[in-house]
Amino acid sequence: MTIQQNSVVGINYTLKNDGGEVLDTSEGREALYYLHGNGNLIIGLEEELLGKAKGDKLNVIVQPEKGYGIKDEQLIQDVPLSAFGGQEVEAGMTFTAQNEQGMQMFTVAAVHGDTVTVDANHPLAGQTLHFDVEIVEVREATPDEIAHGHVHGIGGFEH
Ligand code: ZN
Repeated sequence: MTIQQNSVVGINYTLKNDGGEVLDTSEGREALYYLHGNGNLIIGLEEELLGKAKGDKLNVIVQPEKGYGIKDEQLIQDVPLSAFGGQEVEAGMTFTAQNEQGMQMFTVAAVHGDTVTVDANHPLAGQTLHFDVEIVEVREATPDEIAHGHVHGIGGFEH
């Protein structure tokens, strides 16, 4: 069968950036299982997987618009160092903070004296993503999986 809306799909993948640096990979782990068409994967990858079958290998380049989005300058802000409660703060560190939208993760972009520039964009926002994907399984979803919007059993939720 081929991948369509609500197929359960297992993939092995490696994600690289424009520079060829590996950002994430399923190598050495179990395959990633997801329910197709439910927003579990970035849209640019789902679009290319649609209609493919078990055993297919593909190389997918995803532009930021269909990946983790474009960097939103409004999510880059300066905050006082004192807001970190005396912790050591260095560029590249990640923190979580509570705000109106709930828990938010941000990255320290820079530290200038008593001012810390923080970036709440997704770490992969603005990046072109290069995926090597191998499809290792395609099956029909159960009614429960469709109702929950995710995979159960191997590679999925146990509940
Ligand atoms: Zn469930």
